[in-house]
This record gives sequence, structure tokens and C-alpha cells, in this order.
Amino acid sequence: MSAEVRDDEVVALLQDLIRNRCVNDGSVASGQEVASAGRIAALLEEAGADYESYEPEPGRVSLVSRIEGSDPEAPSLCYLGHTDVVPVNESAWERDPFAAELVDGEVWGRGAVDMLNLTSSMSLAFARLARSGFRPKGTLVLAAVADEEALGTHGASYLSSRASDAVSTDYLLTEFGGLPLEMAGRKLIPVPVAEKGSCWCRLRVSGEPSHASMPLRTDNALVNAAGVVSRLASFSPRPEIGETWRAFVEASGFDAAMQDQLVDPERIDGLLASLPDLGLARQAHACTHTTVAPTIAHGGSKINIIPDSVEIDVDIRTMPGWTEQDVRQLIAEAVGELMAKVEIVEMHDDPPTASPSETPLWAALEKVTARAHPDGKMIPFLMTGATDARFFRRLGTVCYGFGAFSDRIPFGQFARMFHGHNERVDVESLALSAEAFEQLARDFLS
Ligand SMILES: [Zn+2]
Repeated sequence: MSAEVRDDEVVALLQDLIRNRCVNDGSVASGQEVASAGRIAALLEEAGADYESYEPEPGRVSLVSRIEGSDPEAPSLCYLGHTDVVPVNESAWERDPFAAELVDGEVWGRGAVDMLNLTSSMSLAFARLARSGFRPKGTLVLAAVADEEALGTHGASYLSSRASDAVSTDYLLTEFGGLPLEMAGRKLIPVPVAEKGSCWCRLRVSGEPSHASMPLRTDNALVNAAGVVSRLASFSPRPEIGETWRAFVEASGFDAAMQDQLVDPERIDGLLASLPDLGLARQAHACTHTTVAPTIAHGGSKINIIPDSVEIDVDIRTMPGWTEQDVRQLIAEAVGELMAKVEIVEMHDDPPTASPSETPLWAALEKVTARAHPDGKMIPFLMTGATDARFFRRLGTVCYGFGAFSDRIPFGQFARMFHGHNERVDVESLALSAEAFEQLARDFLS
């Protein structure tokens, strides 16, 4: 890494977006991304770029700006950043999460890593290109969207279905990738190319109501539900070793024995059960299995009544290729004969999505990444969580998660700050990302 780079304009933009407090708690009236959309609109106006605003609900504003390409055959590229953030537990923070203080080379605040840092860098790179009179062959699109932190309903989902002409491109970049990861003496730069699906299920477990003073041989829904929960939690779907995981393990620098186990469906579960590095074990497990996590239970009505109904919410994250039918089968297999007491009353399936990694954009990203990390190796990665990329992959767009980051904040710490306390980003990473997005557009679209 070269001497510290700074870019005061991107720091100031990030500070403004943090201070705008676009906190999305999942309710329609929250978020109010209009404030940050306004800030980015002002930046675009000053740069002489036109933009469109979309406001499906009051205050839920997304903004789209385009620099039209001269050649309709040339590939087009979209930078997609969200402007909302998740709520905070203020008392657990060491600093005011919405003051955006700059302390010792780091900007503190909710959204500093998820993902106002990249939204700022993308917007500024776009504005600088517009200011400079950039005339690309392929079109460049900037989308600053609302509502990523709920389900994207009032942001990316809305745009991809209702304004797809304005936003659909051949290629798209969004969070989260480009962060250096030191592993076994190597520097890897994971770039997400695919995301697991999420299938959120509500199960209703039934029983027979009766008086709690005589529990012998009663059919207690809560006791049945306890059995269902423990079977779901201990059920392990079979490992699935995909190409992305295999490539990651090969690039990892682990010793040969460990590599062999990590890609062997017969042995990986045994390894993960005893691996001392819990973070790695969880990540490796989630990248190679459909996972099942019971998270909410509601039931019972009165202490002296044997309950007749308990509801359990289960967060199931599906591997590439899984369908809703596969999930139903998984539940039935896990729950066994107790399934006679169980009804699946709700199922919200958001299927997995994937993009190929052998593309011209991948090659262009490698070039840009090599400037910040000459010793780094970019590797494709499967995201275990969801981003707005999923809506655009479904339109046929090749989507990756990308940014450029310094070596200052270790990968594990950075990943934990997503939705965590004391979120912060270093100013060098902000400068590197702004530069990378500007350079990439010049390389890829000219
Ligand atoms: Zn995010």
C-alpha cells in the first residue's frame, strides 16, 4: 500500500449521509431516504448531470442518473448504492452514531460500512466523471436507492420491476466485496458473485387445550414445538461443494490436508464440528450448506392452560438451485413424525441468485484491484446474506459486490461491523473506492 491517500470530498459526503439518519426499521414511514437522495441530487446538479427521482411511498426516494454511452452495442454498467441504514442501540456505541465524527483517520457512524461508504464513493466518482465531460461508449448508471435494509420493496425491487428501462444494465456493482482478507499468509480479495436464497417460514404447531393442573398424557403444543425446534436446529442438510467454494479453498493457502477436507462432502462436517476457528467454521458451513435457524416462537395464552397452538419462525438460507419444494421436503425430513402436528402457514421464498465470474467486468476489476493491492488475488465468493443485487440478477444483469479498501481494518472486524456497534471506516478506503469507481468506468466503458 502506498502512503495514505485522502479525499476530503468523499469524507464530507459520507458524513452528510450518516448525519441524515435514514434509519429503516422496516416500517413504510421509516427510512425517509429523501434527505440523502437530496444530498446526492445536489452533487449531481453541481456536476451538470440529470437524474430521475422515484418515490413509491412518501419520503422513500431513490435516485437514478445516467451518462449515456455513444455505442448501443457497448456493455453498460450500473453503480448501485443504498442510502438507508439499520437502527442502532445508541447506548452500546462509544460515539454518537449519527455525528459522523472523524477520529484518528476514521469516520464513525451508522452506515459507515453498510454501505454509505460505497454509496458516497460511487456517487462522487459518477459526479466527477460527469463534471469532466466523460463520454463513454457504454452507458454508466448511478442508482442511489431506498429500503435495502428491509426487503428492497420501496427501492431496488420497485426500480427493477417498475423502472427497469432506467436501471437495467449489462453489469452492476454493489456491496460487499473488495476487502482484503489475510489467510494463511496470502492476501485474498473476495468478490461476491452469488447469494444464497432466504426462505422465511412460519410453522404452526398444534395440540389439544386442557387444564394445566392435570398434564398427564395431554397433547401440549408448546412441548410439541420444543421438539420441532430442537429437531430443526440439529438437522444438517447434506453438504454441497460448489465451484465458488472450491475456488475459494484452492486460493486460501490452507495446508493440503485441510483443503481436502473442506471440499470433501464426506468429511467437511466432521472438520467443521471441531475446527477451533469458530468464525471460519461458521462461514465454511454457511457456504456449503442450506442452513436452518429457528428464531422466533409465539404461543400459549394463560399459565394454567395447556396450549393448543404455538407458532415458530424459521430462517432458512438456501444454496444455489434450491426451490420452495426442496425447503418443504427439508422441513418434513427434519421434523419427522412430529410433522403430523405441524402446518406451514407462511413461506416467503427469495431464491438464490448467481452471476458467472468469467466476464470482461471481472477482468476490469482485477486491473483496478491490482493498483491498491498488487499482492492480492481476487476470488469469487458466495454471500450468505442478501443484497439488492438479487433483483438485478433476475433481470439478467451480471452483478458483483465491489469496493476498494485499505489494509487498515481487518476483514473479520469489518464484517462484524455490518449492523453492529461502533461502525467506522478509514478515510483511505473511502479515497481508494472513489478512485477505483472512477477509473473502472474509464477503463471498462471507454
Ligand atoms: Zn447494505
